[in-house]
Amino acid sequence: MAKLHLITYGCQMNEYDSERVAGLLREQHYELTDDARAADLILLNTCAIREKAEDKVFSKLGELRSLKQRNPGLVVGVMGCMAPLHGAAIRARAPMVDLVFGSAAIARVGELVDRARRERTPIVETGEAPLVKITARPDTGPRLRAYVTVMEGCEKHCTFCVVPVTRGRERSHRPEAIVAEVRDLVAHGCREVTLLGQTVNAYGRDLTPPTDLAELLAEVSEVDDLRRIRFTTSNPYNLTPRLIAAFRDLPKVCKYFHLPLQSGSNTVLAEMNRGYTRERYLELIDDLRTAVPEVALSTDLIVGFPGETEDDFAATVAMVERVAYDNVFAFRYSPRPGTPAAARRDQVDAAVKARRNADLLAVTTRVAGARSARLAGRTLEVLVDGASRKDARMLSGRTDCNRVVNFEGDGVTAPGDCVPVRITEVLPHSLRGTLAVKPEEAVCFSR
Ligand code: SAM
Repeated sequence: MAKLHLITYGCQMNEYDSERVAGLLREQHYELTDDARAADLILLNTCAIREKAEDKVFSKLGELRSLKQRNPGLVVGVMGCMAPLHGAAIRARAPMVDLVFGSAAIARVGELVDRARRERTPIVETGEAPLVKITARPDTGPRLRAYVTVMEGCEKHCTFCVVPVTRGRERSHRPEAIVAEVRDLVAHGCREVTLLGQTVNAYGRDLTPPTDLAELLAEVSEVDDLRRIRFTTSNPYNLTPRLIAAFRDLPKVCKYFHLPLQSGSNTVLAEMNRGYTRERYLELIDDLRTAVPEVALSTDLIVGFPGETEDDFAATVAMVERVAYDNVFAFRYSPRPGTPAAARRDQVDAAVKARRNADLLAVTTRVAGARSARLAGRTLEVLVDGASRKDARMLSGRTDCNRVVNFEGDGVTAPGDCVPVRITEVLPHSLRGTLAVKPEEAVCFSR
């Protein structure tokens, strides 16, 4: 078997894509290796969402240069989101790269790698291609959790975001193909799936006949032995009463909702082209909390969008306090090539972005910490992963809201079991507990 070293940057969709690539290449007799020096083929699955992510890739390519010099037979490829954005530039900055391809070309990875090896001329494939549901997976043994991409692309055109360029237009996979993939995963031991899409709650609009995420969640819920379903990322603009009802009514759907706000200022939201106001966003939060009072909420926020004033930033901080998120992902605005916001002259100074980011982090830590503290003494359902990494005498698992719980088991629980655990201690990044008799109703705050 030839050896494949695969490095993945960025979001869950990239992790999913990397698995498909490893699965497809396995059929071409490549097995995964953790050791870059032992590899015949090195692929970097890249992220372009912020400049920092791209810098990491270029610095890794710099590191790989000496390997390539020592082993001219080595094939180095760059795939994923940087490919359509920087195809030619990647080769210009790193001439040792043999192959560049976008996520649309993943189904053809075997053929592309063969060509790169045979022809010994650089190959760049960054165009669109028909949507294919690839179910190949690497031989990594049974696992409890898996990602399932349900749609590709995004058509929101937020003025800061490069995803419409890197991932193309919105295209949904057919529900039958998704359900079949989930069934197969469950048959191989999976108990929890996360349905992925850049705007996952726009799922199905492009299909004939059209469908939606609410219907898909209902269909996936029917898969026997599947215990939990998550989905990400939702856009507030597409959050419908039907989805909120499905979220409330389907017991397998985890009561954790990630709803990116981006900014608390109506001026900035309009300039971002987000399609909602802070008032509309708060209505949606009210609807979610009315439907599921114990829902855990998380969000994405950007600080330092061009023209963001201190008042705009204060409005974002006020929203964090008002919504009382369980978790917040805060990002400094990063100008992205070809996006309208990058061309603006009123860019915010890097030091101001850094200060706002630090201020926001302090507030979110306090707000999320207060939510988290409420878990002490409660009994939560935990999906057991196995022995705890830190202490093999303890078991480890995750709550409905994806918090890690280390707990004392009684020896009868096994990976894949869902068991009630009484929370005895709330730590910054995990919970501790003991096996309990029965769970309370779904109550869980994520971190
Ligand atoms: N499609 C989702 C949406 O727009 O709601 C989010 C997908 S994106 C992979 C994850 C997060 O990265 C976004 O929600 C946003 O907060 C952040 N992000 C996107 N573009 C950015 C940029 N140019 N600079 C900083 N953060 C950015």
